[in-house]
Amino acid sequence: MELIADVPGLRARLDTARAQGLLIGFVPTMGSLHDGHLSLVRAAVARTDRVVVSIFVNPLQFAPTEDLAAYPRDLDADLALLEPLGIDCVFHPDAATLTPPGRRTTVHVAGLTDRFEGATRPTHFDGVTTIVTKLLSIVGPCDAYFGEKDFQQLTVIRRMAIDLDLPVEVVGCPLVRDSDGLALSSRNAYLSADERRDALVLHRALHHLAATWDGDADSARDALAGRISSAPGVHLDYAEVVDPETLEPLEGVTGGAAQALVAARVGATRLLDTMRLEPTG
Ligand code: AMP
Repeated sequence: MELIADVPGLRARLDTARAQGLLIGFVPTMGSLHDGHLSLVRAAVARTDRVVVSIFVNPLQFAPTEDLAAYPRDLDADLALLEPLGIDCVFHPDAATLTPPGRRTTVHVAGLTDRFEGATRPTHFDGVTTIVTKLLSIVGPCDAYFGEKDFQQLTVIRRMAIDLDLPVEVVGCPLVRDSDGLALSSRNAYLSADERRDALVLHRALHHLAATWDGDADSARDALAGRISSAPGVHLDYAEVVDPETLEPLEGVTGGAAQALVAARVGATRLLDTMRLEPTG
């Protein structure tokens, strides 16, 4: 497993593999890897020929008030987790490589980025889409793996890949939870023991919703929001039931596919969770 920091080095390596007819699998991450990330890597290893994992804490997706400096980083631990998985290389560029001085270009996906995460973090998705576009341009034609954990991000990236004709197959992978049900996230490291216990309401409320889902989006949304906002120590940001492709909130009774999305603050930590609601019709 090679550790590569420079763009020409990575391009040359992947071009050589493609020239041999090999399919590249790409897993972009911000490091501080956990089993959620590793599930994406395992899926890529199983379904493609050469896997590259990027580790880059993207400064553009953090607002000045957010946790960029504090975001957990441990490259050695990440490499130790990746080593046994059989990947080809880790791309670990420095900030100047991906955000060069004099940079004037932003990739913006309209509409899909206004709501939910975009409402509380107005610059977040432009930071994500700009850097993911650059990473995909550097990696070149590939299958790129993203987690459903960040459901809105996955939807935005799928749209972007279509709109920009990127030579990429975007592959979504299921959310991975800890044994107590909490969605795995690098930010879980910020939670105290009490906060972690309080945070379990997100999963419990989603689980209850999925088990009782009868297609009534309005009452489902109210029940989900009610359960989470009445839990101690948890400050609800949003709880929604949406169309999984357009992210439009569903209204009334629906028989088709639906996705529940929640975000909440537990102490100082903002957590996301999501669950698919199976069609009832
Ligand atoms: P991050 O390092 O947080 O930017 O995440 C890198 C990739 O891992 C993204 O595609 C995430 O959606 C995905 N991911 C993060 N947590 C999980 C999880 N618990 N289950 C599945 N995928 C995840």
